Amino acid sequence: MLSFEELTGNPVAKRAIEVAAVGGLKVALVALDREAARALAEAASALGTGYVFMLTPCPCGNWGSPRPCNCEPEEIKAHQRSVAWKEALREADVWACVHGPDQNELQEFLGGQRGEPLRAIVRRVGAARPWFRERLGEAVQDLTRNARELLLKAAEAYQFSWMDIRCVLRAAEAIRALGDAPTIEAAHVAEAVEYRPQRLRGRIIP
Ligand SMILES: [Zn+2]
Repeated sequence: MLSFEELTGNPVAKRAIEVAAVGGLKVALVALDREAARALAEAASALGTGYVFMLTPCPCGNWGSPRPCNCEPEEIKAHQRSVAWKEALREADVWACVHGPDQNELQEFLGGQRGEPLRAIVRRVGAARPWFRERLGEAVQDLTRNARELLLKAAEAYQFSWMDIRCVLRAAEAIRALGDAPTIEAAHVAEAVEYRPQRLRGRIIP
């Protein structure tokens, strides 16, 4: 089995489990590559992330990846209406796709390069956790003006529910704590918005 360190690439999914670990958030990993997703799910549990949903995009597992998917559009929709998907859409705070290796990542791997050691991420999460504020009100107070404007724009563009708003604010607060920043900046909100499932529409979610 591939270990977390052996997995070169997948920076977004790696970052997502780190943010979730700091913010006490539930993660949904859409496995476009099962081996990589398994390594990431193990790392998430080592980081103390409470709940990880593992999802496949379609019955064959290739929808949204460079590999050919032979599922019919109706089959994909039915697959994503399954109990597992419904539960994840209801419960998961932070969403990320886990990709297979691209040419660069494979070259790095074959050249002996390794990803960041898990213990380094465990240390970073441990250092940030005491600075994460559970109370949403405190995070809201510390949004910069640009961050607030960006959140308003995203809420309108994606028709955010209160659940979306809570998830984005908690993720943005976790990102702030990881960066040891005094306020929640627009960049923190922008990254947090990327972790909502609405961002997967048209790519993974039909
Ligand atoms: Zn398929």
